[in-house]
Amino acid sequence: MLTTRPRGTNDILPGEVEKWQFIENEARKVSRDFGYQEIRTPIFEHTELFLRGVGETTDIVEKEMYSFFDRGKRNITLRPEGTASTVRAFLENKLFAEPQPTKMYYIGPMFRYDRPQAGRYRQFHQYGVEVFGSHHPSVDAEVIGLACTYLEKLGLSGIKVHINTVGCPECRPQHHVNLLKYFEDKKDKLCNTCQDRMAKNPLRILDCKNSTCQEISISAPTTESSACSECKGHFQQVLNYLEILEVNYLVDPKLVRGLDYYTHTAFEILVQGIGAQSAICGGGRYNGLIEQCGGKPMPGIGFAMGLERLLLTLNNEKVNLTGLLSNPEIYIAVTSPKAQELSFRLAMELRKKGISTEKDYFEKSLKAQMKAADRFDVKFTLILGEEELANNKIIVKEMATSEQKEIPIDDILSYLERGLLKND
Ligand code: ATP
Ligand code: MG
Repeated sequence: MLTTRPRGTNDILPGEVEKWQFIENEARKVSRDFGYQEIRTPIFEHTELFLRGVGETTDIVEKEMYSFFDRGKRNITLRPEGTASTVRAFLENKLFAEPQPTKMYYIGPMFRYDRPQAGRYRQFHQYGVEVFGSHHPSVDAEVIGLACTYLEKLGLSGIKVHINTVGCPECRPQHHVNLLKYFEDKKDKLCNTCQDRMAKNPLRILDCKNSTCQEISISAPTTESSACSECKGHFQQVLNYLEILEVNYLVDPKLVRGLDYYTHTAFEILVQGIGAQSAICGGGRYNGLIEQCGGKPMPGIGFAMGLERLLLTLNNEKVNLTGLLSNPEIYIAVTSPKAQELSFRLAMELRKKGISTEKDYFEKSLKAQMKAADRFDVKFTLILGEEELANNKIIVKEMATSEQKEIPIDDILSYLERGLLKND
């Protein structure tokens, strides 16, 4: 136990973590370019928030939440997703009083008691965005366009957006009736959860992962077939805007988000080749959510992208993320105990100047230190021994050419700065 991490969690080790930093930095950059500001909310919230904000008939609330009572007997849950917290923060901090829309993004860990497998973990990470305050169809397209731009900037090509309209409170009751009519005589064949869903929320049956349920759902009436004219109009305009953006989309009538506060646009970005967990991004409009969480009615839309699945995809597509590993530029080798202090001071000075520097920590032989310098693949190795110390000099070896020079210690900083510039 002591040396085993909890099931479904990952260590992100040096070597891999640079890839994370890279995709996170790109997410920040693209978000900024699109005018989204970062929000950081707590890792845990009152359980009630997710019951309300995610929905009691979702997989997340039904079986995936990490909930516990804290020492003050409060019911707390590790956040399973980012939207509910963002809405809560928007309301609690009265951001609705600012000029609208509010455009925010977040990056961070989420927690779900999922069944661990490739691309599915219990602690995973999402990059997500939310826009509150505008129902304009160009916002739907902008959010989708942002997700696509990000993926393209990372080097993924051939991205396809699956999109659908899931209706609104106006037309959804009719759609429910149509679905119930369709499933009525097939009910016995549905899985137990879906039989339950018949009573609670028939739309969620279309989202079931059980293969029999999926087969039965194939000819189920689509949301579009019962969509009201407002929904149809909005959807058509979203598609028009997507065409302006040249986003490659596919209208997928089976795509649903089965909760009342999800309205209009629903979308997903699927990728090939990372196994069964092929969705890297999911999102949609939730015009009823802010009111559901205790605010005044206000439209909203967002997406969440799974960063583990994104990295799997990037690896799989052989997108080159190497070269991100930054080696130290300088290695300082010391050949006499007397030179230890000077080499230490020099290393610290170089580091403070922003020149990444490694050194020996074991008083190893010169040969071993030169080996280490090779392994670090530094540009220059400095060699400091008794003789150099006496002459106030230092040996500089340029690793690419193996050329060695003696430089006065006082000149070493400017010499290296010039040398590193030349090497850049
Ligand atoms: P799935 O159907 O795969 O369970 P979901 O509908 O639960 O996905 P969302 O809640 O829409 O997923 O989350 C958005 C994205 O977060 C997903 O598309 C996926 O990339 C990622 N994601 C969700 N759950 C996990 C998980 N347990 N481990 C890793 N990534 C996940
Ligand atoms: Mg899930």
